[in-house]
Amino acid sequence: MRTRAAVVHEVGGPIVVEELELSPPRAGEALVRILAAGVCHSDWHLVTGATKHPLPAVLGHEGAGVVEAVGEGVTSVQEGDRVALNWAPYCGDCGLCRKGSPALCRTFVGPLWDGVMLDGTPRLHTLSGDPVYHYCGLACFSERAVVPASCCVKVPDDVPSEVAAIVGCAVTTGVGAVLNTAGVGAGESVAVFGAGGVGLSTVLGARLVGASPILVVDPAPDRRRKALELGASAAFPPEGAVDGVLELTDGLGVDWSFECVGHADVQRAALGAARPGGRCVLVGLAPMGTSLELDTAQLVREEKAVLGSYYGSCDPARDLLRYAELFREGKLALDGLVTRRWQLDQIAEAYASLLAGEGARGVVVF
Ligand SMILES: [Zn+2]
Ligand SMILES: [Zn+2]
Repeated sequence: MRTRAAVVHEVGGPIVVEELELSPPRAGEALVRILAAGVCHSDWHLVTGATKHPLPAVLGHEGAGVVEAVGEGVTSVQEGDRVALNWAPYCGDCGLCRKGSPALCRTFVGPLWDGVMLDGTPRLHTLSGDPVYHYCGLACFSERAVVPASCCVKVPDDVPSEVAAIVGCAVTTGVGAVLNTAGVGAGESVAVFGAGGVGLSTVLGARLVGASPILVVDPAPDRRRKALELGASAAFPPEGAVDGVLELTDGLGVDWSFECVGHADVQRAALGAARPGGRCVLVGLAPMGTSLELDTAQLVREEKAVLGSYYGSCDPARDLLRYAELFREGKLALDGLVTRRWQLDQIAEAYASLLAGEGARGVVVF
């Protein structure tokens, strides 16, 4: 069948919307009609080349839709199911899965980074028959997508598709960093560096567990305003932010500092904002090969710790549904994260807006 999709052909872009050929789902796969797909910064790393990926590729890894068909042997979902898409399929059987860390499962990392389905082949082709690769196994900036069935997490029909889409990446990453990686307790203090989709989800997670105060740092006035609206106690621009955090925490710093950008300078600031004995959680994905220089004497003397948090340390089957349910119960204001809706043809504009720091999360709606 034919599908219109956002494709990047070469490093440096542009992202073009074009018609492609999509083959039917094979064993263990599902065909999903995409209803919404979030505009996340990670896709942009393919355009700049910061993430090495075979090209041409269809972008999009934060999606939701309706299952239209399933391949052989698929019993977890069926035609008509509404699903949020998880970009980290796991085997359930390796050492890491059995230790309770399915987000760290390595079984399918090879095919995912090769831009193909788990059997090693792509379902997307140009109209002249050349292969087109799937970003994160999802490639959901497309009217339809064939994905591994294990990436489909059923969500209730009354969860809006934009919300289901952002649950698939930003929300699970940010809320999960608070709930799973950190386990922030009620009354503990939190600082969040970066107030894009992931950072604002971190704010929502911190609010959910009763953290206080919740202090946010972001250069964009628009995003600082949004953070306050979603429950932050105070928001600062980056200049003098660490001093601002110290001032509001009796000169100590916060119990938990979350870095949601993936930039060395911001990571150092986040560590500086953590109190002695505090924890700095690195959530934002830096370009591959980025390193961070740390004052290790300070780490020792002040007993600070730095933790990585990948995909909110999630168990996708458990957590994507859990966050959708918390939204339905009014405990996570996820609809407040979606500040802009785009058509697929506006994808280039949507990324320009993201890079300019406008709004919280943009979502392409189909
Ligand atoms: Zn993402
Ligand atoms: Zn595994």
